[in-house]
Amino acid sequence: MAATRTAIVTGSTSGIGLAIAHALAAQGCNIVVNSFSDTSDDHAIADKIARDHSVKTIYVQADMSKPAECRALVTKAAEKFGTVDILVNNAGIQHVAPVEDFPIDKWDAIIAINLSSAFHTTAAALPLMKKARYGRIVNIASAHGLVASPFKSAYVSAKHGIMGLTKTVALEVATDGITCNAICPGYVLTPLVEAQIPDQMKAHNMDRETVIREVMLDKQPTKEFVTVEQIGATAAFLCSDAAAQINGTHISVDGGWTAE
Ligand code: NAD
Repeated sequence: MAATRTAIVTGSTSGIGLAIAHALAAQGCNIVVNSFSDTSDDHAIADKIARDHSVKTIYVQADMSKPAECRALVTKAAEKFGTVDILVNNAGIQHVAPVEDFPIDKWDAIIAINLSSAFHTTAAALPLMKKARYGRIVNIASAHGLVASPFKSAYVSAKHGIMGLTKTVALEVATDGITCNAICPGYVLTPLVEAQIPDQMKAHNMDRETVIREVMLDKQPTKEFVTVEQIGATAAFLCSDAAAQINGTHISVDGGWTAE
């Protein structure tokens, strides 16, 4: 990356978002770190990224389930750094239950955080990107943006939805120097996946090791979890000049899951 870019990564205090923040900082980007909380640990994460990569960072508390906070995140980033060049819509949550038992508040939260937040941040960032005639939007979808699994109705719906948003935005801004793409990871061992294991054990009536082998990695032909660093590197590639003509599509990083 030639110029110093500013990147917002939503949900970047943990897991994939944190790895993407590090990967973009390693490319020289200033980073806006985000989550819904506002603790000293959150600010320390942003400070560490700045120290590790000799870039500028800021921690901005914004709850991605709230439209106004999604949009304010972009405004605060622009106020701090003057521009928003890269937007990574990563924040996401999961809940596992059969459709008929699926709690309504969980459905609403998953749709809001995993799908609608990307609409709001993108809508707020595009005027800045259009003015700069440069932008990279990377939506962290999932293999579940392409195929389904039982008991994940809200997640699969939100992830299929973000694939549609990705393509639509890509077409709208194709002549503005902006690209919009998705990454579709398979199973990455992060706190989000760790938290699913007890629910999956209950839903499938299996012990932990059996759920990991037969439910989770059963779908992943390589039989290995994806690493957060592999997703970080993929995001950095999509933000590079080499990816300028990659637009409105996705990169699967799923060990072959969706090839079946
Ligand atoms: P994680 O739980 O480790 O991290 C999620 C991040 O989002 C955290 O920083 C959390 O604080 C933040 N977050 C949660 N709710 C938020 C809210 N309301 N507002 C702002 N931030 C919020 O999860 P992860 O596994 O790193 O997942 C990141 C993304 O990758 C999600 O969109 C997830 O769906 C997607 N994904 C994960 C996997 C996987 O196997 N881990 C696979 C495919 C896709």
